Amino acid sequence: MQSNMRILVTGGAGFIGSHLVDRLMENEKNEVVVADNYFTGSKDNLKKWIGHPRFELIRHDVTEPLLVEVDQIYHLACPASPIFYKHNPVKTIKTNVIGTLNMLGLAKRVGARILLTSTSEVYGDPLEHPQTESYWGNVNPIGVRSCYDEGKRVAETLMFDYHRQHGIEIRIARIFNTYGPRMNIDDGRVVSNFIAQALRDEPLTVQAPGTQTRSFCFVSDMVDGLIRLMEGENTGPINIGNPGEFTMLELAETVKELVNPDVEIKTVDNTPDDPRQRKPDISKAKELLGWEPKIKLRDGLPLMEEDFRLRLGVNKKK
Ligand code: NAD
Ligand code: UDP
Ligand code: UDP
Repeated sequence: MQSNMRILVTGGAGFIGSHLVDRLMENEKNEVVVADNYFTGSKDNLKKWIGHPRFELIRHDVTEPLLVEVDQIYHLACPASPIFYKHNPVKTIKTNVIGTLNMLGLAKRVGARILLTSTSEVYGDPLEHPQTESYWGNVNPIGVRSCYDEGKRVAETLMFDYHRQHGIEIRIARIFNTYGPRMNIDDGRVVSNFIAQALRDEPLTVQAPGTQTRSFCFVSDMVDGLIRLMEGENTGPINIGNPGEFTMLELAETVKELVNPDVEIKTVDNTPDDPRQRKPDISKAKELLGWEPKIKLRDGLPLMEEDFRLRLGVNKKK
């Protein structure tokens, strides 16, 4: 029989974190503690659990030490959208480096297993396609995205050093672009932008050239992969993402077709260091975790549209 678990989720008030909390709370053996500073997350995402006897929410910044007694740590705390992580880059790198160091210190003190949500951004603008976990990446160390991608690379290094030096049980997920209900409407990421724009009858802003690719994973598949990784025997790093690859123009066409056929698509300037292509090789996740995504982009987008319609108060056209 599975014994009771106390699980810390840092960044649990955010997009992926709150879906993870929902899933963990379904198991009556789990007690869940969330630590979040509400930079990009919100209590609203967790409102159904506030007051629940197996749930606790702490306003806490992971760059400060945290003393709690837990068995597992899902360490997600870090802004994920470029507009937010570039907003205060020094804070972003502190969150990745000092925040991860603190969570590792905590894991060491209490003997907890810790999972880091790293990112496909560790591959930078990849010269290998699709990306396997053995690829070391092509990352600009001094660019405007470096606070995030180099920050996550250091976080991965810290994880492995604590593992080798102190025997900490670690898990590293390299997450590829994830989308779904509860993303911030003005989050700035491409799927949330396009859906919000389509619903507001504003042009879909494809950043030039539009031929750059991404691979989008629906959030329920992501959460499933993260839990399998935590519960399995492999440290990782393991890519978790959906290998379906789309250009940003194709994504815009799909959103237009599904959400608002009358909307215009326009090309706008891009930001520096935008990776030209990204697609996970998920052989390792399949083999080691028995995991692969189930939800195709065309099936996931309408689920997100429904959530955005409710929040924006836009009814479906008859
Ligand atoms: P999100 O911005 O919705 O969630 C991040 C959460 O962390 C928010 O609730 C935020 O308030 C909190 N946070 C940020 N800095 C903090 C700090 N210093 N102390 C405490 N809390 C802090 O983003 P998300 O999409 O849910 O991403 C979750 C994790 O997954 C992040 O680590 C991100 O790097 C990783 N990831 C996400 C994607 C994606 O496509 N969504 C892709 C790759 C990696
Ligand atoms: N830490 C924490 N919670 C704990 C234990 C440690 O936040 O329960 C922090 C601690 O403040 C330190 C970091 O984790 O900054 C690393 O701790 P560790 O014990 O590995 O290193 P040291 O304290 O010796 O630098
Ligand atoms: N993008 C776009 N229009 C937008 C926002 C983003 O075309 O309104 C593009 C962006 O240039 C990048 C891709 O979409 O090529 C994914 O960007 P996002 O910020 O969602 O995530 P990233 O993978 O870059 O972290």
